[in-house]
Amino acid sequence: MSDTETHKKRIRINDDSKLVNVEFETSEDVKKTSTFEKMGLRKSLLDGIYSYGFEKPSAIQQRAIIPVIKGRDVIAQAQSGTGKTATFAISILESIDTKIRDTQALVLAPTRELAQQIQRVILAVGDRMNVQCHACIGGTNLGEDIRKLDYGQHVVSGTPGRVFDMIQRKCLRTRNIKLLVIDEADEMLSKGFKEQIYDIYRFLPPQTQVVLFSATLPHDILEMTSKFMTDPLRILVKRDELTLDGIKQFFVAVDREDWKFETLVDLYDALVVTQAVIFCNTKRKVDWLTEKMRAANFTVSSMHSGMPQKERNEVMSAFRSFTTRVLITTDVWSRGLDVQQVSLVINYDLPNSRELYIHRIGRSGRFGKKGVAINFANKEDIRILRDIEQYYSTQIDEMPINIHDLF
Ligand code: ADP
Repeated sequence: MSDTETHKKRIRINDDSKLVNVEFETSEDVKKTSTFEKMGLRKSLLDGIYSYGFEKPSAIQQRAIIPVIKGRDVIAQAQSGTGKTATFAISILESIDTKIRDTQALVLAPTRELAQQIQRVILAVGDRMNVQCHACIGGTNLGEDIRKLDYGQHVVSGTPGRVFDMIQRKCLRTRNIKLLVIDEADEMLSKGFKEQIYDIYRFLPPQTQVVLFSATLPHDILEMTSKFMTDPLRILVKRDELTLDGIKQFFVAVDREDWKFETLVDLYDALVVTQAVIFCNTKRKVDWLTEKMRAANFTVSSMHSGMPQKERNEVMSAFRSFTTRVLITTDVWSRGLDVQQVSLVINYDLPNSRELYIHRIGRSGRFGKKGVAINFANKEDIRILRDIEQYYSTQIDEMPINIHDLF
């Protein structure tokens, strides 16, 4: 069904909090549930939510948790950092029966770090429920995976390759799976991953509920969902509401590539104010920039998919624990990762798509916090930024000299 055919309702949300003051376009009236109590969640889950530190559900949580719990197929889109992970974590935890040891919910994510983060959120929020949740990801010990799955995991959060491997080996038994969550759904249903997702889907019971989440859901992806979803409820944020007001976006004009390095050095003091993520487009460039910064005596860490998983884990945990402050990375870091203190994102290279731009800058400004995004841009890049500006009805100004005052 095309967008124009869909009976669309625009809902103006009048909550007082800025974060929830966004417009959704949905396929029908979506009810809101304004508190976690009113959701009728089991007590152990409610206790877990509060002890995790959540007081009130965010806009997407108010709209999506109940329909997912009720078993409806749902396509949910909301801006980066507004609580989508917690939305499906809570829905999953309410839906499973911990007395049954089989896997009942499967979450698929595009990167190992994101799958691990999802596992951590599920375990933390489900702390009072005695839930077993396993991160089934590549680059880890196969035997350990097999042992954990054999023990019994209510929830599996994984990357498609290893999950499919475990299904084929019959270590991950699918017969009791009733819920499939596809996080970063547009990425998961695009070229690189699509076949793998369908391969896994074919092993799931036919009545499996499917739920999709992402900050960006382009049209072609939405159209494809009719193949594996039944009358999905669509909770979609309007495109011009996709960039967050809390993230100020700038560009620095760099006519020559080698000016980028000098610009970065000039900005270093701002980088270490809290935490910063610097994006390059290739692994080689990440290695090169890391070396060059270190040679100039700047402390930086770096991560990309060419590194052994053990090293990736170490870099992540140092960054999460605030031991390191500046991380140079590729798009392996662009989606979903949540480190609340990140307040600055630098696009050393501009990303290759509008969607990636939204995801990258969304690594800062988590859950209503303030953030700054700085794009290093040559003449051609400035044209691309203007296009992004127009597409998302946002503003990307030339960086002011007093950038330090923004933190
Ligand atoms: P998204 O998946 O939309 O990018 P996350 O689920 O990672 O966002 O949430 C972003 C941050 O906000 C996380 O640090 C999370 O713990 C926090 N958060 C999510 N929901 C709530 C809530 N209801 N109250 C307070 N903090 C929340």
